[in-house]
Amino acid sequence: MIAEQIDCPVCGGDHFDAIAQFDTGGWVADDAKRWSRRERVFDYGACRTCGHVRIVTPYDAEIIADLYKDAEPVFWDDRGTDATSVYRDMLTFCGPALLRRTGGSVVDFGCGHGDLLALMRDEYGVADGIGVDFQRLVGDGVRFVAGDLNRLDDGVLAPLGTIRFAFATHLLEHLLDPRGFLRAVRRAMEADGHLYIEVPDNDVIVAHEIGRMNGLFNAQHVQYWTARNLTALLATTGFAVERMETVRSGYIPRLKILARARSTDAPAGIVSFAFERMCDLRAEVTASILAHAQQGTLCLWGLGIDFHRLRRESAAFDALVRSSGVLLFDLGLAGGTVDGIEVRSPDELASLPHAVVLLPGPADVRGKMRAYAARCGIAEQRIFDPYSP
Ligand SMILES: [Zn+2]
Repeated sequence: MIAEQIDCPVCGGDHFDAIAQFDTGGWVADDAKRWSRRERVFDYGACRTCGHVRIVTPYDAEIIADLYKDAEPVFWDDRGTDATSVYRDMLTFCGPALLRRTGGSVVDFGCGHGDLLALMRDEYGVADGIGVDFQRLVGDGVRFVAGDLNRLDDGVLAPLGTIRFAFATHLLEHLLDPRGFLRAVRRAMEADGHLYIEVPDNDVIVAHEIGRMNGLFNAQHVQYWTARNLTALLATTGFAVERMETVRSGYIPRLKILARARSTDAPAGIVSFAFERMCDLRAEVTASILAHAQQGTLCLWGLGIDFHRLRRESAAFDALVRSSGVLLFDLGLAGGTVDGIEVRSPDELASLPHAVVLLPGPADVRGKMRAYAARCGIAEQRIFDPYSP
């Protein structure tokens, strides 16, 4: 459940500079009720390459169970800020993207007591939202899937269906592997799905509140986000930020991000097009060599990978190679045979009257062959370059 290797979720770096320690613990008693302290220390590290801050002390199952044994709702402030107004603000921020109905599911990862799902149902008519969390705190009327958010596997993802809208509010700061989490959500998402993320904004910390108004620096908060680092993480897990702002609710600076699933068409489309184009090009090259062969014997020069591909992809070209209508030339293979066919040295080309076909695809190789031909006294008109545009 816990990764041994501590790495940076933003850049993948594994070198951290120590910046602080957080100590926590509790009283434990023996049978005679003699209380003593059991302390735990968590080390904070700053990634040496991108600056992201996280706790670099490994978490085991016992630590996690200890940290989350009391499920407390988020404490916004002591001035009357209620959770409902904050959740309402999140949904307003998402607006039309949330209400767009095209099938697919709405999922709240780390749903807690289900306040966000309840508001979605009551005020936005989204009645079929699904809550995911490691323990069930939501009521009976809510669809719920239990899952380890530090390891979202197919067993958790499958019951969610294809996700149209995912929420992860005040979750990413708690995760040991937020990159793995976002990758999993993106994989399960519709091509044009949306994601709302909210985390404490560590660029907007008010000095006089630290340590007395809020508890943002604690062992539950593994990751310390800024807009820059979270945007970088999203960009490399298949999301594009649509809207982003930071507002303060009570004592919590809320970094709000609405992102959508970014298209994966480029460069995948370009690369697959390029491979199709290269295949088409070889078919054109084959056709022009076959047409040239009608006019007389050909000297095929350069028996590398492109020659091999032409033979493999065209039975007609392979038959031509095996016929008496061609002679084969290659500097490296000269003096030997290929499939029983004699391979000659390019030195012989000057003394023959036939057309000379340049077989390698790369222009630089054909350029060197032209220069070699010129030095040997082979007339320019005898050279046939089937790759020439
Ligand atoms: Zn980093």
